[in-house]
Amino acid sequence: MLKINKKKEIIKYLKLFVIDSFSPIRSGNISIKYKLKGKEGFLISPSGKKNIELTTKDLVFVSMQADIEKNKIPSSEWRFHLDLYRSSKCNAVVHAHSKFSVICSCLYNVIPSFHYMIALTGGKEIKVAKYSLFGSQKLSNNILTSMKGSKSCLISNHGQIAIGDSLSEAFELAQEIELLCEYYYYCKLQKNPKILSNKEMQQVLNKIERYKRS
Ligand SMILES: [Zn+2]
Repeated sequence: MLKINKKKEIIKYLKLFVIDSFSPIRSGNISIKYKLKGKEGFLISPSGKKNIELTTKDLVFVSMQADIEKNKIPSSEWRFHLDLYRSSKCNAVVHAHSKFSVICSCLYNVIPSFHYMIALTGGKEIKVAKYSLFGSQKLSNNILTSMKGSKSCLISNHGQIAIGDSLSEAFELAQEIELLCEYYYYCKLQKNPKILSNKEMQQVLNKIERYKRS
């Protein structure tokens, strides 16, 4: 029963990609930690299909040993999902080609602490992973480097990633990242925005931590 719910949850959020073109047409992918026949792994959206047309049958299981479910093709970007599950305790990964995350990923090498909500990522800035071919192991390595100590990063000339304890948490963070990228883009059109200091950001991080525990 729980397994069916997880599949339905992925489909629900993939349909949300289409709303307001958050991640348009066939772009972006979502995965969630999953156990199949005793094997640990994750369920991920398939390769090359329109998000709006996906059903639970299209989802693909990939084990933590990188075995792919027979007769199915996972999203070409499954490698960084696997590496994120191997290297962190997250339960869900959202990767989106959301408009302002794409724009900022093409313009900047980092989104600095121009707004205190950057701390939602768990860090003091949003890093932009170095460009490499989509789906490549090199790109996955670059992403892991940029996500050390953070729940999010942009990918150069590509888009964004957010992870979370649950899919709803990861998706909400992806929405926050998109908003922050939009604010940063418009700030930069005017001039360089004011930047919060390291100390100010640390205070925010401490307060968010306390808030989560309460
Ligand atoms: Zn992508």
